[in-house]
Amino acid sequence: MQAGSEPDDPKLSLHPQPGEPQFLPRLSHGQQALIPLLADRGVRSVVAPLYYLHHNPELSLLPVGRPLGRVLDPCTQLRQKPWNERAEGFRQLPFGNDPLPYTPDTARLSDTELFDLATMPIDAQRAAGGTLMLTSFHLAAGIGTRGRDIELLLAQVGIEHFRNQAMFEAPPFAAVDIPREIYACLAVDVRDLASPRARRELADAYLGLGADGLWVKIANFHERAPKRAIRDAGAFLSILRDSGITVVSCGPGQLHLALLTDDISASIGLGESERFVIPTTWRNNTDNRRKGRTRMAYHSKFHASFRVGSREAARAFKLAGCSCSQHASAEPPTGLVVARHAAILRTDQAMEALSGEREERREWLLASSAVASWAAADAEIANGYTSGSCYEALFNGLDAGDDDVAIGEQTQL
Ligand SMILES: [Zn+2]
Repeated sequence: MQAGSEPDDPKLSLHPQPGEPQFLPRLSHGQQALIPLLADRGVRSVVAPLYYLHHNPELSLLPVGRPLGRVLDPCTQLRQKPWNERAEGFRQLPFGNDPLPYTPDTARLSDTELFDLATMPIDAQRAAGGTLMLTSFHLAAGIGTRGRDIELLLAQVGIEHFRNQAMFEAPPFAAVDIPREIYACLAVDVRDLASPRARRELADAYLGLGADGLWVKIANFHERAPKRAIRDAGAFLSILRDSGITVVSCGPGQLHLALLTDDISASIGLGESERFVIPTTWRNNTDNRRKGRTRMAYHSKFHASFRVGSREAARAFKLAGCSCSQHASAEPPTGLVVARHAAILRTDQAMEALSGEREERREWLLASSAVASWAAADAEIANGYTSGSCYEALFNGLDAGDDDVAIGEQTQL
């Protein structure tokens, strides 16, 4: 959404655009009931894992009379897990049932296999109602590795397929009749972004693909990551953003707020899946969907999520009541209310991060996080980090961009 604009402004695209960043909530199992609530609060596009539709087809339902952009994440990185650890719904997909885990640096693919792997996920997203399509991706290392070469080829073939098949036109009788877009999806560990040269090379390779936008999943990039890692990822994202292309950071946890204030779109889960992590967290989620789900109760005033049922959560909500009006204000949400609570708080705060001029938005965030650390001190919440310092590390990286130097060098200046 463009900063300061009304959510229903018909001139605005449903998809994020350069200079018009969006918050794109990622829905989980059974969260389709949140869609009208999100749309009412200004959300223009939502995200859901494509394979969830197998067990939860209602996730693809759209609120009547309210067009929303739809991203159906192919989650092709799950191919890197052993067969028995992939969710049943994922194995039902034509690209999810390989008996052996995909290993980027040693995988052998025939031309036909590569073409199928590049195109089938896009065809599946389109058939299921996706409006913003993502290319196939796996977590691979930097430029110059075999794994990354294949990643770039998968993205290139996927983009060509999208254009050759004229997929930018909505399918006949589509529920949402807007032009489709193709984003190159890029997954990388933050450790492979440590050097300025590695960041520049990776950025140049993906910018050269000619996609409509970039969907970026950085593993180990979130509010609890080392400051140096946060800064590195910020420098990388700013190179992409400053090229003029639309960039969506997928799964950056609490850091999404700082990205939004700096014109980078962001997508996180509501009450779970806030970070892009493989494989352990996802293993719990998919193998044992109910028991393994870690529910987190976000609290806007603290700029932090607390594990539902923990003493910290109880202390935080007792000290500062919640305004979502879905549960007793002085107690953390529980059960099914957790998701509604998260949807309301996350969306309202994201919209705040998106309204106003860019400089003001950044100042607002830093001031708000200073209040958060005082509140945490009052509540005696020793969470080991402050949101303000991680936002600052991110802004340092975003400001440095292509000119970034190693922190060791910088301290000598
Ligand atoms: Zn609440």
